[in-house]
Amino acid sequence: PLSNSLHIADISTTLHPYTDARKHEEQGPIVIDRGEGIHVYDSNGKKYIEALSGLWSVAVGFNEQRLCDAAMAQMQKLPYYHTFAHKSHEPSIRLAEKLVEMTPEHLTRVFYTSSGSEANDTVVKMVWFYNNALGRPEKKKFLARTKGYHGITVASGSLTGLPYNHKHFDLPAIPVVHLTCPHFYRFGNDGESEAEFTQRLLEEAEETILREGPETIAAFIGEPVMGAGGVMVPPEGYWPGIEALCRKYDILLVSDEVINGFGRLGTTFGCEKMGFSPDILVTSKQLTSSYMPLAAVVFSEAVYDVIADNTHSIGTFGHGYTATGHPVATAVGLENLKIIEERDLIGNAARMSVPFQEGLRKFADHPLVGEVRGTGLIAALEMVADKDTKRPFDPVGKLGGKAFEIGHEEGMICRNLGDTLALCPPLIVTEDDVHEIVRTMGVMLDRTLDWAKSEGMV
Ligand code: PLP
Repeated sequence: PLSNSLHIADISTTLHPYTDARKHEEQGPIVIDRGEGIHVYDSNGKKYIEALSGLWSVAVGFNEQRLCDAAMAQMQKLPYYHTFAHKSHEPSIRLAEKLVEMTPEHLTRVFYTSSGSEANDTVVKMVWFYNNALGRPEKKKFLARTKGYHGITVASGSLTGLPYNHKHFDLPAIPVVHLTCPHFYRFGNDGESEAEFTQRLLEEAEETILREGPETIAAFIGEPVMGAGGVMVPPEGYWPGIEALCRKYDILLVSDEVINGFGRLGTTFGCEKMGFSPDILVTSKQLTSSYMPLAAVVFSEAVYDVIADNTHSIGTFGHGYTATGHPVATAVGLENLKIIEERDLIGNAARMSVPFQEGLRKFADHPLVGEVRGTGLIAALEMVADKDTKRPFDPVGKLGGKAFEIGHEEGMICRNLGDTLALCPPLIVTEDDVHEIVRTMGVMLDRTLDWAKSEGMV
């Protein structure tokens, strides 16, 4: 095991994302040392169920030898080459073919980046280039949703609809209008049915398009099921309604599948499950099970044609990264997708979603829990101070943070998004794993309730 001084050394040399640096300087970070299946072990040998798959991403578990072998083989053959100026290499080509095969039929072209944020930046530039090429440079605005998460770079962070990702960074820095989050529990009005809520949101979207001017709206971007904002499944009819508006007003529809993609919802892609057909689909995370940083923007021939046909008239699509289509990352991605197919992990996600969702729904009766939600192998439990009025705890996040800590003590890593506890286990989970996750969540909730009582919060 690493010595405690090494723990402290790390936090004094590294600025960790989303970390109270001063608070943690004393104790240092939890150093995760190795992984095995759905488990990770810290440097003291403590074992945890990784019930968030790292950051919603490790589909095949934490010690998949085939991915290590694929990386090693590619490292030895051609560790790096770029894909600029019509150069390429086999793993990038093969993975692109695979992506085109797996995504909806009309999506035929691929652009690689190393992260979901860069992929969404690419989407912004692609959409702008597309409209410039069509001679309508004023068609630039994006529609996104509050609580949507699309990344943290300046452009993708602008699309993100979470205040703490905007505050102090002067975001949004690109033209974006955030529409109401399609989460009935939080944003439905008193006495409103879910169908009425859906209708209201679609009317809001159309009114926004008309107010801003359809000639100024370039694209709508959304996660089929929202992830980092708190795991929100939109009501039935929402996505088909959004798609209809996009078609009516000539707005490109972008499905951000960075979390949903490759089986998370029990279908290959979230758009399938939610019943819509995007022009552009963004993937990352489960694409390589995050063993290598990689993302891919998969888009339609129609979008491709406009970009390709106009390169001569308006100039080249001047965009690309040193690591675009990186050979080791794409080799790992290809092997990872093969594993997902060979082991029917998407089918497994669909099958395991039943005990997972049903097991968690039982906590709807727990005194702390306002709502249990999710679909497939992604879920969240929102803790509230008053179950009838849905009043949140004050301050939001204190209880969630405590539950998160208790989870660690109980040997399970989940994520607290404020007072919402999110779960997103690897796609390889067995029924026993699911029961263990549900059981541990029960212990976490009970212990969190005891703590809340001791603090006078309930
Ligand atoms: N889009 C979605 C839906 C995400 O969940 C994330 C990350 O969580 C991103 C984009 C950004 O990806 P990255 O963190 O790789 O930049």
